[in-house]
Amino acid sequence: MFAARYVPGEKKLLLTDVPKPKPGPRDVLLKIRAAGICHSDLHVLAGEVPFPNSFTMGHEACGEVVEKGSDVTSEIKTGVLYAVHGPNPCGDCTYCRTGFDNLCNGPGRTFVGLGQDGAYADYLVVPARNIVEVPPGISPEIAAVATDAVLTPYHAIKSLGEVKTNSKVLVIGLGGLGMNGVQVAVALGAKVTATDLKSSALDLAKEFGASEVVNSKEMDNKLKPASFDVVVDFVGRDSTFTQAQTYVRPGGTIVLVGLGSAQVPVLTAPMITYQVRVQGAFWGTHQEMHEIFQLIAEGKIKPQVETAPMKDVNHWLEELEAGRVKSRMALLPS
Ligand code: NAD
Ligand code: ZN
Ligand code: ZN
Repeated sequence: MFAARYVPGEKKLLLTDVPKPKPGPRDVLLKIRAAGICHSDLHVLAGEVPFPNSFTMGHEACGEVVEKGSDVTSEIKTGVLYAVHGPNPCGDCTYCRTGFDNLCNGPGRTFVGLGQDGAYADYLVVPARNIVEVPPGISPEIAAVATDAVLTPYHAIKSLGEVKTNSKVLVIGLGGLGMNGVQVAVALGAKVTATDLKSSALDLAKEFGASEVVNSKEMDNKLKPASFDVVVDFVGRDSTFTQAQTYVRPGGTIVLVGLGSAQVPVLTAPMITYQVRVQGAFWGTHQEMHEIFQLIAEGKIKPQVETAPMKDVNHWLEELEAGRVKSRMALLPS
């Protein structure tokens, strides 16, 4: 079958043929219907998040179950769309058993498409416990990108940022994740200000309910310092993390999602005198997967997605790097 594989040290994925995988007793074999491209793939290919081994990339996956292991429950059906919970938790460790399965530390665990084989392929084997049925009416490409580009901002904004009705939220970086972040915060009843360097992204954020949009270069003139309850940084560079610290209110929260730099600066005086909380955010939980699909099914979040043939993955990775992807790109196998 076709697979696009990460090879340590190489900047492009190797497009190749590999044997179709076989499910173990507690696994399912998914025929991939769509796989989203995340900016994290670029960090891996740039060597910023290195892996020592080769693997098939793609951590935003949606497919149909075509084969089930002998111990898989009859609840799992063939011919229905399922989305993959990419953190791939073990189900047994303390984190998994206490509702923090995105933080699973089970032995030998790796993430789907990040350290172990993922979705840029015709088929994928995953543990049956780590798939979620996609409600009817949601397309494969939307379901695929939702598993990260909606799940991660939902976890960051609702669960960790504790955003609620009337919260004042600043969203920095309106790409695949940030644009859905705006929609999540609006759906929670927040008053949202959105910033990016791209004016096209600002226009779209306005359509999705941001009450104010500001180009990142003009924030100094347009926004009041120390005025946001929650600032979510979907970029994670020196400049954006400094902006986050400038615009968060005393006692407010900065949620850091973007992996743009290996280190970001902390401004000690405002951090201390304002008692600002900095919260890291990683992906999302299995339970939150159900919650986001509910919101998408109800039309409260409308993830924007474009599609392209999977064999063109290297081209679309380049386009994402160059900032030329309009929303989120999902790849469709031929
Ligand atoms: P993306 O490329 O789709 O979007 C990035 C957006 O940031 C673009 O709109 C770009 O114009 C904007 N941007 C870049 N520099 C900026 C700046 N200085 N000021 C304002 N805006 C700027 O990326 P994505 O797939 O949405 O991912 C965003 C980040 O989140 C990446 O670093 C990715 O690795 C990371 N990520 C983290 C998690 C997690 O669990 N924490 C999960 C997925 C992705
Ligand atoms: Zn991702
Ligand atoms: Zn676990």
